Amino acid sequence: MNKITLSILAAFMALPALADVEYKLSINEPAHHLGDVKVTFPKTSQSHLDVHLPDWRTGRYEILDLANGIRFFDAKSENGKDLDWKKVDKNTWRIHLNEPTEVNISYQVYANQLGMRSRHIDDSHAFIDASGFFMFSDSFRQEPVTVDLDVPKGWRSVSGMDFADDKHSFKADNYDVLLDSPIETGINDLYKFKVDDRKYELVIWGEGNYDVELMLSDLKKLVKTGSLIWHDYPYERYVFMVHATSGARGATEHLNSTIIQRHRDSFAKRDDYIGFIATAAHEFIHTWNVKNYRPAGLVPYDYIAPNYSDLLWLSEGSTSYLENYLLLSAGITTNEEFYKDINKTISRHLKTPGREVQSAAETSFDKWINAGGDHGRNFSTNIYSEGSLVSLALDIDLLDKSEGKVSYRDVHSELYKQFKLPKSFNSKDVQNILKQISGRDYSTWWKDNVESPLSIDFNVLLEKVGLEYTRPKSSKAIAGLDVMAKSNGELLILNHVARESSAWESGLTAGDKLVALDGRQVRKSIKETLALFEPEQEVTVSFIRRHQLMTTKVKLKSDFDKPKKVKAVKAPTERQAKLYKAWTGVEHPNAI
Ligand SMILES: [Zn+2]
Repeated sequence: MNKITLSILAAFMALPALADVEYKLSINEPAHHLGDVKVTFPKTSQSHLDVHLPDWRTGRYEILDLANGIRFFDAKSENGKDLDWKKVDKNTWRIHLNEPTEVNISYQVYANQLGMRSRHIDDSHAFIDASGFFMFSDSFRQEPVTVDLDVPKGWRSVSGMDFADDKHSFKADNYDVLLDSPIETGINDLYKFKVDDRKYELVIWGEGNYDVELMLSDLKKLVKTGSLIWHDYPYERYVFMVHATSGARGATEHLNSTIIQRHRDSFAKRDDYIGFIATAAHEFIHTWNVKNYRPAGLVPYDYIAPNYSDLLWLSEGSTSYLENYLLLSAGITTNEEFYKDINKTISRHLKTPGREVQSAAETSFDKWINAGGDHGRNFSTNIYSEGSLVSLALDIDLLDKSEGKVSYRDVHSELYKQFKLPKSFNSKDVQNILKQISGRDYSTWWKDNVESPLSIDFNVLLEKVGLEYTRPKSSKAIAGLDVMAKSNGELLILNHVARESSAWESGLTAGDKLVALDGRQVRKSIKETLALFEPEQEVTVSFIRRHQLMTTKVKLKSDFDKPKKVKAVKAPTERQAKLYKAWTGVEHPNAI
């Protein structure tokens, strides 16, 4: 070792270790949903430090205004001197610094948004998604972080993050990891298991009608299926967090964890349970699709402004599509249950007039302002159903043209291989992958099915893999009206009138309260009410609008008493049976 090397070494040793950003959350008034946060930012010589609370959280592409729960903001120097600060926008605090110093900020958080899965504190637990609690500064976003929790006695803390000094403190490589590693702390049940040397935890907050043994047995089968698509796992440890509750439902994916919320009584019935395990599969798939590869518009996450992408359908809808493949190939669901889900997605799509207006690419880009409701149904689509059906169409096309050798799963396997974060991909990259794996050009297909509203004959599509989408022969004609309504006990309140239907043309609109058809008072549902009439019959509809009784004439349409259904063809050809196996991983139920 020469003198120069020694002096370089000495200089390195003299450098201070990388300073952490330290977060501390004290839960002193849980019953009132309040927490006190302290943050220490490392020494800085900037003239001012801007600190922000995110305006949205990962996995929910919607502005949430999380800063509305912040009160009693304060900033002090490392010597405890007050620092001048001013709020400069709705979620940015600008702290002025006269000399180099550490910056200590403190504030109170009101955490009472369980269903947002961003911030919740009560007397039994806290769900801590950093976006709702912990401010960041761009200057220190890449620095390591530590989180210390001061929680009521008897609480247990669980997170995808590693523990730091004790059982209520965690560490992460940087703020982005912290933001994608929520903490569940409180009175909960914790179950641990290992599959192929990787560690898993299931933590459940809340009583419910769940069967833990069944959940654990199916989660063990589920986590094995990651290898079927990606052939590699991006984590050593994964945490399933479950809220069995009453006021919230939904789920969110995170780096190596997920939070799943369901009504406490919605675990026992088979349909309910499938809802739970399908959600677990969905979030698990996100560990790759979104958390390890995601569209260019979402890299890096901008926590202050929306991240736009025309590929959110691939991030969400393809995940919804693939979840059923995982469940079926793992032996968790049956063929019939697999068809039932495809059936549900197709039926919902066909009943959404907005499918003729918005493409999968457009609904992806507009996710941030997706309003839903009656107008949404008539003029918009959503990334989940459109994305799922685009994925289905693409999958069957790939299987059909390659005699079952190539599938849509290969696209995701390649996205994981070629575009692992911090890389990102755009539409052209996906089309390039399609060309690489199939040898064919998909640009026209993409224009027709991704950038234009989806228009598919599902019976023709599914027939290729040995299924059909048909109506039972015993089905009879009944009177129909393209509306949706809810009874208030006496009247039927319209919440949707399909665009360009006869009800629409007659002037009926969402919000109208139907009183009677041809003088006969409405029944408990539209279906029961229409059963009193014949298809194609013209009826006078009496309804209330702006507290006035009004009438209009509507021609009822001819509908069917039994819907179309996805089912297996009775006698699949050899080719259909072969493609079915390549598609699902299991044998066609009627294959010889
Ligand atoms: Zn999702």
